[in-house]
Amino acid sequence: MDSELHRLHIFFLPFMAHGHMIPTIEMAKLFATRGIKATIVTTPLNLTIYSKHMERIKQSGLDINIQIVKFPSMEAGLPEGCENIDAIISSSGSNSRELVGKFSKALSMLREPLLRLLQEHRPDCLIADMFFPWATDVATECEIPRIVVEVISLLSMCASEAISRYEPHKKVSSDSEAFIVPDLPGEIKLTRHQLADNLKQEGDFTKLLREVRASQLKCFGNVVNSCYQLEKDYADYFRNVMGMKAWLVGPLSLYNKDVKDKTHRGKEASIDEDECFKWLDSKEPNSVIYVCFGSEAHFDSQQLMEIALGLEASEQNFIWVARKGKKEEQNGDNDWLPQGFEERMEGKGLIIRGWAPQVPILDHVSVGGFVTHCGWNSILEGICAGVPMVTRPVTHEQFLTEKLVTQVLQVGIGAGVKRWVDIGVAGDIVSRDDICKAVRQIMVGEEAEEMRRRTKVLQEMARAAVEEGGSSYTDLTSLIEELRLHRAAAREQ
Ligand code: UDP
Repeated sequence: MDSELHRLHIFFLPFMAHGHMIPTIEMAKLFATRGIKATIVTTPLNLTIYSKHMERIKQSGLDINIQIVKFPSMEAGLPEGCENIDAIISSSGSNSRELVGKFSKALSMLREPLLRLLQEHRPDCLIADMFFPWATDVATECEIPRIVVEVISLLSMCASEAISRYEPHKKVSSDSEAFIVPDLPGEIKLTRHQLADNLKQEGDFTKLLREVRASQLKCFGNVVNSCYQLEKDYADYFRNVMGMKAWLVGPLSLYNKDVKDKTHRGKEASIDEDECFKWLDSKEPNSVIYVCFGSEAHFDSQQLMEIALGLEASEQNFIWVARKGKKEEQNGDNDWLPQGFEERMEGKGLIIRGWAPQVPILDHVSVGGFVTHCGWNSILEGICAGVPMVTRPVTHEQFLTEKLVTQVLQVGIGAGVKRWVDIGVAGDIVSRDDICKAVRQIMVGEEAEEMRRRTKVLQEMARAAVEEGGSSYTDLTSLIEELRLHRAAAREQ
């Protein structure tokens, strides 16, 4: 029989934000390396942003196709070109909630075009981001299984569930009084200040998350960018207590072996890569701290100023991916660096204004630490590079993931930020002293060495997990096998 008939064909639908697009595309590549035909569904603008990544995919010879659907920006009342969270953040002033609402509406309008694509191409499975809860019904209509791509930490999903179930935050007397998340392994300690609004009050997002949870429970299962060794207790909780079927196949960034694949994963770098690596080559091993707060967080001038002065005071070499706050950008305000900072830091610090090739920077032998906002991709990338971290969470589930780093795995030190804020809102200021202290704690001295040793152990575990015979490799094999059996059973009916 024609071997084409035996090959599984999977459709991937990533959510339009870098922290989701990058791992979902990497997941499609991973499936393709196991002989599966993959099709990624995206929109014109997002395809353009990822053009280098797509070019690399084409050159790889893997069987990955792209299907474009028009993003209904106009129909949903969004400005033209608002096809991703990046665009929402940069075009929203005080009306960010309104724009997010319209963005959600546009996402739900993708249902019909997706259905048509599935009916036309008849794949064997749909792997779609959690933020498309309706994708399970669309897949059911096409009589194929739907799997959810999980791009956040298992700890954060489990902690959110336990907090929603037991409401421990309602039993403390103030926003700053600590409570332990009940029922959850690891004695995770939090305050009400650190919880996302959706965990504290009912709103549109709470409603969406309930739909997400329901669709997770009724779909074929969840494919998670994590590995068992890093989140063992939370993987068990997710499966056994929350009742979720899950395959842990990450860390996905580790499957990129070629430096060009590691470099061209997201937006195009705002720095000449050769120049950046030459600069790093000139530094001693573990002597550079890399500072980056992901693709969404923007700080105001005051916080940027404190970061700059904290880095200077730490006396460490640094690469800082700095992005001005919205207000500063709109005002054309260039006053966010201390006077004479760049001249003083000549040779000692490199500022990247925009987008950095994060994974190869972290992997460089000269990089010895990472100041991060605790986005899950960044945390995994830090662990995979074997570098201890300073945690400075901002929003989303980042305060929950911080606990994995500082409390459970003990490979990081908190910079001391106390309060969750919505994306785009200026939050607490972490002072230069706190930044300097935390940076020195992970870069210099016996405690830093100990933390580095612990991170290297996790790095080895993560690397072993994705190798043939490792837990992530084996989970992926089981998932593919289950999909084959499912298809065979469906064909017999
Ligand atoms: N990233 C990058 N360069 C940057 C900023 C981010 O390569 O200048 C990548 C980073 O490596 C990660 C992703 O973008 O893979 C960000 O995802 P994460 O979950 O860490 O944070 P988010 O952007 O979703 O807050």
